[in-house]
Amino acid sequence: MKNIKKHIKDVPDFPKKGIIFKDITPLLLEPAALGKVIDAWVKDLKKFKINKVVAMESRGFLFGVPVALKLKAGFVPVRKPGKLPRKTISQSFSLEYGKDKLEMHRDAIKSGDRVLIIDDVLATGGTAEAVTKLVEKLGGKVKSLAFLMELSFLNGRDKLKGYDVRAHIKY
Ligand code: AMP
Repeated sequence: MKNIKKHIKDVPDFPKKGIIFKDITPLLLEPAALGKVIDAWVKDLKKFKINKVVAMESRGFLFGVPVALKLKAGFVPVRKPGKLPRKTISQSFSLEYGKDKLEMHRDAIKSGDRVLIIDDVLATGGTAEAVTKLVEKLGGKVKSLAFLMELSFLNGRDKLKGYDVRAHIKY
């Protein structure tokens, strides 16, 4: 997975000063490298017998759908408020400044579903923690949280204690 790092570009001061944005779009241009990332997840995660893959908009979708297809699991999008057209449940969470909210369709998760949560970056962990709450409100069991990369210095794992948390790449 070390070779994958060369397809992720650091963009300083985006979207605001002081943030180093990890841009995955160069990786999306490389089917061999992207395929390697997806296949490694599928191989490592098969043992959890996942039947739903949940991902947050919008970069999580890019990884969530191919992994769900290969695991023969359903895919569930988590979105910002007001985007999903039918009955939703929502979860608020804190950001560095202020609050945010995420929504999921009420009928997307059934009690006892074995769920994988997937996203591109684990930073402070607030987003992923909110998604675990959405899944669990509907009776789903979070079996693993998989990230392409983890910004270890932000200690996102502290918010996800007790869960299987994995990342292909660490910074
Ligand atoms: P957090 O809730 O702090 O763990 O942030 C995670 C969410 O924000 C993920 O959906 C990421 O896509 C995005 N994110 C956070 N930090 C970065 C970063 N440095 N580069 C790219 N995306 C980021």
